[in-house]
Amino acid sequence: MVDISAFLDKVEKPARYTGGEWGSIIKDPASVDVRFAFCFPDTYEVGMSHLGMKILYGLLNARSDTYCERIFAPWVDMEQLMRQNGVPLFSNETHSSAGDFDILGFTLQYEMSYTNIVNMLDLAGIAAFSENREGVFVCAGGPCAFNPEPIADLIDFFVIGEGEEVIGEVIDAYKTWKKSGEPRRAFLERIARLDGVYVPQFYEVSYNGDGTLASFTPNNENAKRKITKRIVHDLNKAYYPTEFIVPYIDIVHDRIMLELFRGCIRGCRFCQAGIIYRPVRERSRDRLLALANALIKHTGYEEISLTSLSSSDYTMLGELCGGLLDVTEKQNINLALPSLRIDNFSLELMEKIQKVRKSGLTFAPEAGTQRMRDVLNKNITEEDITKSTRLAFENGYSGVKLYFMTGLPTETDEDVLGIASLATLVADQYFAVPREQRAKGLSITVSTSCFVPKPHTPFQWAAQDSVTELMRKQKLLQGAIRQRAVKYNWHEASVSYLEGVFARGDRRLAKVLVAAQKSGCKFDSWHDFYSFERWLGVFAECGADPDFYTVRHRSYDELLPWEHIDSGVSKQFMVSENERAMRGETTPNCRENCSGCGAASFGGGVCVD
Ligand code: SF4
Repeated sequence: MVDISAFLDKVEKPARYTGGEWGSIIKDPASVDVRFAFCFPDTYEVGMSHLGMKILYGLLNARSDTYCERIFAPWVDMEQLMRQNGVPLFSNETHSSAGDFDILGFTLQYEMSYTNIVNMLDLAGIAAFSENREGVFVCAGGPCAFNPEPIADLIDFFVIGEGEEVIGEVIDAYKTWKKSGEPRRAFLERIARLDGVYVPQFYEVSYNGDGTLASFTPNNENAKRKITKRIVHDLNKAYYPTEFIVPYIDIVHDRIMLELFRGCIRGCRFCQAGIIYRPVRERSRDRLLALANALIKHTGYEEISLTSLSSSDYTMLGELCGGLLDVTEKQNINLALPSLRIDNFSLELMEKIQKVRKSGLTFAPEAGTQRMRDVLNKNITEEDITKSTRLAFENGYSGVKLYFMTGLPTETDEDVLGIASLATLVADQYFAVPREQRAKGLSITVSTSCFVPKPHTPFQWAAQDSVTELMRKQKLLQGAIRQRAVKYNWHEASVSYLEGVFARGDRRLAKVLVAAQKSGCKFDSWHDFYSFERWLGVFAECGADPDFYTVRHRSYDELLPWEHIDSGVSKQFMVSENERAMRGETTPNCRENCSGCGAASFGGGVCVD
C-alpha cells in the first residue's frame, strides 16, 4: 500500500485520491483470486461521470472471487509529488500500487486521452510496450477500441464492444490460467479464442510503399481472422448498478444516469456510436422505474438523467416520465433529457420533464443547410427547427444551444454561412412571439466542432479538412454571426486534427505516443496542457506524417487498419451510405424502414420490432 497522506494538503482536490466515498467497495485484496483495476485516463471528476465504469465496477465487485478498484490519472500537482517521492500510480480504494493488480483495464473514450495511458503506465513502473511487459496484464475497451491499432503495441488485449458478459469470461480464463502455472502467452492464447477479444501480438502487419496497409495476418492458431464485437442482447436481464458511488467533490455529471437503451435508429453518417452500438435494444419501463427507485434510495441524488444516444426516441418515454414524476416530484428530484432531437421536441414532454427545474434547451442540427443535413442523413428540416424553437420561446424558454460541425464532406462556404442564417432564423422565432408572452433575454449559443472522420462509419474514407481550412471556415462564420443575442464558440481545429490522426491511425503511431509522453504531452484534452507545436515536433522526430492519416482520401479498396474489427455493420452498407451522401440522398430510420445494415445478424432489438 502506498502512503499519500503527506501529499493531501499540498494538492488540489485531495478527495480525488482518498477513496472511502459512500458506495465505494472495500474488500480484503488477499481474499480474492483476481484483482482488477478500472483505469480512467483522465481526472477523477471526468472518470467518475463515466457510466461504463459504474457498470463494470459493480458487476466485477458483485463476484466474490474478484476485487475491482478504481485508478484515475493523477493531476499534475499530485504527479509531481509522486515522481519526486518515488510513489507509483495507486488505486483509490486501497491505495495499492498499480503493479499489484492482475489486470489493469483502460477505457478508451477519446483519442486525446492516449498520452495519459502512456503516462499512467510510466507512473506505475509498467513497461509501455506489451512485448517488454511482465506481471500485470493491460487491457482496454470502449468506443475507440474499434480502431485499436494506434495503441496496439501498448495493450496486451482489447475487449471489442459491450463488456458486461465478456469481462466475466476473461476473469474465469484468468483464474484457470493463474492456477495452471503456464507462461504469460498461454493466458493470451486462451482469451484470444473468446468472441470480442483481440490480442494484437497474434497478428502481423505489413505496409505498401505508399504507407498504406498491405496485409494483416494472424500468426497464432488461436487468433481469429475477424474480431466480432460483443453486445448485450437483453438489457432487462443484464446487470445494472442499483448503487452508485457518491463522490465527496463535484464531478462532471453528478447525478443518477438511467440508461434507457443502446444503439440508435437514426443512422447519421458521421456518427460512430450510431453504428458500433447497433442494433437498438431498449430497457422496459418497469425495469427503469425499479432501477430509478433503487438509485434514488441509495444515492440521495437530486437529478436523474435519462441517457442514451437519442433519448427522445425511447418508445415508452411519455409513460416512463409519467412513472418517474410520481416519485421525483414529491422528492424535488429533477429529470434531465440530454439528447433531445429537435424534430422530437414536444412541449408536453418538456413541461413534464422540467417541472422541478427549468434549464436551457440544446439541439444539434449539425449543419446549416438542408443540403448538408441530407448529406449527413440528419433527417431534420428547417421547419422542424423553427417549429420547435418557436414552441419553446412561446412557452417561457429564452436560452437555446445549437450544435453544428464544420469540415464536413462536400461542405461549401454556403453551408458554413448557412449556420449563421439558421441562428438568425431561430432568433426570428423569438421575436415573433409577442413581447408580453416571451421570457426576457434571448440567448442563442452556436457551437461548432470540427468533423473528424471515424472508423466504422460511412465517412471513414473521407479526407479531413486541414487545420488551416478549418480555421478559415471558423473565421468566415465568426464574421457572419453579427446578432448580439447569438454567441459563437468553436473547437480548436488542431486538437480535432490530432484526434483524426489517432482515430484512423495504424500501429506505427504507438512509438509516436510514447515519444510524445516523454516530451511532456499529457492531458491533451485540457487546453492548459495541450501544445500542437510539441506534437508536430514529436511527429517529425519519429518520422511520421500526420497528414497521411487525416487529409488523405481513402479508396474503397484500401485495407484499413481497423478492418479486422467487425462492428456488425457491413462494408457494403457503409459504401452505399457514403454514395447516397455524395448524392445528397437520405435513408429512412430503422423504425421507418430497415436498410439492411447487417446488425440484424446480432438478433433482437429494433431489427425485429
Ligand atoms: S438491420 Fe435494419 S433495423 Fe437493424 S439496425 Fe440495421 S438498418 Fe436498422
